[in-house]
Amino acid sequence: MDLLNTLVDKGLRRELPTRDEALAVLATSDDDLLDVVAAAGKVRRHWFGRRVKLNYLVNLKSGLCPEDCSYCSQRLGSTAGILKYSWLKPGQASDAAAAGVAGGAKRVCLVASGRGPTDRDVDRVSETIKAIKDNNEGVEVCACLGLLSEGQAERLREAGADAYNHNLNTSEATYGEITTTHTYEDRVDTVQKAHAAGLSACSGLIAGMGESDEDLVDVVFSLRELDPDSVPVNFLIPFEGTPLGKEWNLTPQRCLRILAMTRFVCPDVEVRIAGGREVHLRTMQPLALHLANSIFLGDYLTSEGQAGKADLEMIADAGFEVEGTDQVTLPEHRAAGGCHDGGGVCGSEGGGACGSEPAPQAAAQDGPQTGEPRTDLVAVRRRGAGTDLAPNA
Ligand code: SF4
Repeated sequence: MDLLNTLVDKGLRRELPTRDEALAVLATSDDDLLDVVAAAGKVRRHWFGRRVKLNYLVNLKSGLCPEDCSYCSQRLGSTAGILKYSWLKPGQASDAAAAGVAGGAKRVCLVASGRGPTDRDVDRVSETIKAIKDNNEGVEVCACLGLLSEGQAERLREAGADAYNHNLNTSEATYGEITTTHTYEDRVDTVQKAHAAGLSACSGLIAGMGESDEDLVDVVFSLRELDPDSVPVNFLIPFEGTPLGKEWNLTPQRCLRILAMTRFVCPDVEVRIAGGREVHLRTMQPLALHLANSIFLGDYLTSEGQAGKADLEMIADAGFEVEGTDQVTLPEHRAAGGCHDGGGVCGSEGGGACGSEPAPQAAAQDGPQTGEPRTDLVAVRRRGAGTDLAPNA
């Protein structure tokens, strides 16, 4: 297919596809799905080989959030029945992190519910980062604490944080339909603060919230412009007790197309399959490893994932290898910081040769695909951080 040849060529050159090309990936037919995966897989292997980076989530503070993000089981008014607890102590968080590291994770993601941290919260998290780094040599720590105020990103960097996550989640045009208590611009501002403080920026999206193909392309193009080092792709887990609890819009095939489109638009970036992997990709998870170079090991913030052992077996069976702490995740030009100057093709949108070719025609879908509700696959997390039970790692 001309479309795929064009996208592979562009991906190998870090050249931005056109919006029409990105849309065409989302519109490919099921008959062409393996060709799409194979093409995006070439780009993935060019920049990341067959390595899979494992990340481990530690939910430092769960539930009780005053914000109203419609997709979130921790939101204001959620009746999702999740674990609710206040800040873990540094030792408790370090123990949870150690389980993930022992399971093969090279990055620990420290997440707290809430609009954003107070300065006292930043102190707490700084102590936690120190405890984790003291006990786990070579581990990367990413903080995800919500909207940052002036100076907080710098303080987290000084405390030893390597990265900061704050997702854009959806397109600017539809953000107000998903959340009313903060804005898309607030989110962009926090990612930029993290970047400016020297933290590796991590920012991604959630698919399956009722958005259009145009929305998905918009958010992925916005991410390319923001230029994070990692892009988590979440597939909405429709928790009962949240406003999006009935939004079952995804099929495994649609998830694969979304990951492929993200890979083509952000070719040299760590594309991470995040929440909803087991619920929506289901038995197609191994194919997704040809597109993403990073996953979460074990459980998520408020839901349970498949057993960590099953994650490791899946990676080995699919012919991939877990990335070690002695291996550098990002391609050399990006790891050296060469992609964060706003120049060149990387992270820039449009202009010159980038994005100037017309989109080849793609086969259209017969109609909108919808996913069957699989509430049987949604399990609220009842183990690990905030409980007396061992974590899944
Ligand atoms: S996504 Fe974060 S800010 Fe939004 S409701 Fe959930 S915990 Fe709160």
